[in-house]
Amino acid sequence: MNCDSSITKIKGVGEKTAELFSKMGVYTVGDILLRFPRDYFSYPTISTFPMEDGLNEGYRAILAPVSQRPRTQFYGGKSITTLAIGDEALQVQLTWFNSKFMEKTLIPGKRYVFFGKVFYKNGRWTMAQPKCMKPEEYRDLEGRLEPIYSLTEGMHNRTIIKAVKSVLAGEVLLSDYLPKDIREEQSLAEYNYAIKQIHFPDDMDALVRARRRLVFDEFFLFIMGMQYQKERQQKEANGFSFCDFDVIDQIMKTLPYPLTGAQKRTIMEIQKDMSGPYRMQRLVQGDVGSGKTIVAFLMMAWTSLSGYQSAIMAPTEVLARQHYESFTRMVEQFSLDTEVILLTGSMTQKEKRIAYERLQTVPNAMVVGTHALIQEKSIFSELALVITDEQHRFGVKQRDTFSEKGKKPHILVMSATPIPRTLAIILYGDLDISVIDEVPAKRLPIKNCVVNTSYREKAYSFIREQVEMGHQAYVICPLVEETENLDAENVEEYSRMLRKYYGGSISVGMLHGKMKNDEKNRVMEQFARNEIQVLVSTTVVEVGVNVPNATVMMIENADRFGLAQLHQLRGRVGRGDVQSYCIMINTSPSKNAAKRLEILNRSNDGFFIAAEDLKLRGPGDFFGIRQSGDLAFQIADIYQDSDVLTEASGVVHDILSADPGLEQENHLALHRRMEQFQETQLRKMNL
Ligand code: ADP
Ligand code: MG
Repeated sequence: MNCDSSITKIKGVGEKTAELFSKMGVYTVGDILLRFPRDYFSYPTISTFPMEDGLNEGYRAILAPVSQRPRTQFYGGKSITTLAIGDEALQVQLTWFNSKFMEKTLIPGKRYVFFGKVFYKNGRWTMAQPKCMKPEEYRDLEGRLEPIYSLTEGMHNRTIIKAVKSVLAGEVLLSDYLPKDIREEQSLAEYNYAIKQIHFPDDMDALVRARRRLVFDEFFLFIMGMQYQKERQQKEANGFSFCDFDVIDQIMKTLPYPLTGAQKRTIMEIQKDMSGPYRMQRLVQGDVGSGKTIVAFLMMAWTSLSGYQSAIMAPTEVLARQHYESFTRMVEQFSLDTEVILLTGSMTQKEKRIAYERLQTVPNAMVVGTHALIQEKSIFSELALVITDEQHRFGVKQRDTFSEKGKKPHILVMSATPIPRTLAIILYGDLDISVIDEVPAKRLPIKNCVVNTSYREKAYSFIREQVEMGHQAYVICPLVEETENLDAENVEEYSRMLRKYYGGSISVGMLHGKMKNDEKNRVMEQFARNEIQVLVSTTVVEVGVNVPNATVMMIENADRFGLAQLHQLRGRVGRGDVQSYCIMINTSPSKNAAKRLEILNRSNDGFFIAAEDLKLRGPGDFFGIRQSGDLAFQIADIYQDSDVLTEASGVVHDILSADPGLEQENHLALHRRMEQFQETQLRKMNL
């Protein structure tokens, strides 16, 4: 058995278990070792009587003598065996079901450790189904941390524990791929030690050391993979020549609003890239509502005026159509000699054919679409600029396929993911970065409130007032239709209810992912034209949708959404220069839910929210960003472990500047491991 062996080679893992493992993305012996516990259970220290501080509910280990034999009583076919331990001040009732043999197991006069869950019920302390051990037996467990793994349906924690133990006992581990001098310099634990300890830690210190090593590995391999490729990739020459930027400066002057300083700076950086000697690969980061779309439009317009085609790819149909409409309007408004072409999956064959034809005949067209269609080959005559909007919604691979089109076009990716700039530089090592860290001046901060369900009526009449002033509102529900086992609002019923409530004076529309694409488009267009005033929707409006006339975002069951998601949803309002409002209905009694929503209530700043969310949830928890395609880390956390991230980045730099090809003898193992890591990452993304 080695790391590449199938998991069926592990003792006790049969076809059925293997199938469950495969659902978790575990196929080989190596995979199982690299699937770390999500948490640990720790065996408590022994308590004895008298207990000065009393007892608390939870798992306890109590050392006590047995003074009499346990007694068993029968109920129907079942039996319950009980025994009391303790002193005058505190008694604990031990109970076992269908375990008459306990009468013989426990010998009066002897001392045992009773381990189990303690709770207070009917006026007394009870420990149900305790395990009984000799004191020296328990001493072995005391303070020990047992792994808790994330599971898939049908899989048990103990099955994974057994499998991992069996692999570790087989000593199949590879040798450490990190050169010894680096390990020592960074005071990192040895690899095999770290793997063993992350699964079965000797104690807390060992766990911390193991974790630090494995966090380092994740960052190190990720950054190494990226930088290695970057070194390999020769800077590619810029194959296009652009016209004077004055034409765009002119347009900028006639915009209905002045651009922010951050927008102007970003535009200048892009312009410099595109007219420079090399192909551009740039990331534009900017919080929701910071105005990324106009930047994209201006750069595409410049490309058109220079005689080339450009394309922008959006993650949803709704967003693609919206860009298409606003770009078409602007092309007309600025009398640009070009054409905007839409390409999306929901178009009919005939519409698509016409679009392809236009692409062939308009050499400087601006193309707007979803990724599915833009991925098709050879449709562009001369593509000079490719933009990915909301790039955090796409995986790395998709970005790459897209960039292979035509004659190596310039690449611009736009993202609203709030990562501090220093981290972004490390994580997106292959991209240059512009940050739009300023919101348009005239914009008023959104007014927020978090309320309970008794506020609903007030919210509806507030929405009515806003609509009477000419504005519009979104109402977000977590569900599409009623479901049996989830007590949350659904779009279908909610829109029926609101329609009745407003009695025809206000037009209420509905939008969700189960609707047909053309139906969705129709509703979105009606909302954009203010023919629908209140749009009841699922989170399909979450990304990018821009209807500046909407001033109210009401979110039902707000406690069911992640903070990052709520922040994106809220970003749908506050896009014009009138006051906007976000009403979050909290339906959860939990204190934690209230605390989380309070963060949003206090701030409209994506970076602040991300950081607070982390503090509240604590390490080991997920903030949305960690699940996004680009940053698929298992235990590393870019916020909590930012110091390790910086160290790893430094080490990568040192190694690559001494050995750019990773060809030195002592780097060969590392080279192999890096390639392996990249394969796993790609596999994960395709899961
Ligand atoms: P995002 O960065 O979230 O993609 P958008 O590009 O959709 O944001 O812009 C949000 C809104 O702000 C749009 O209605 C847009 O017209 C407007 N906008 C963009 N830049 C400015 C600016 N400098 N001043 C005022 N409004 C702006
Ligand atoms: Mg946008």
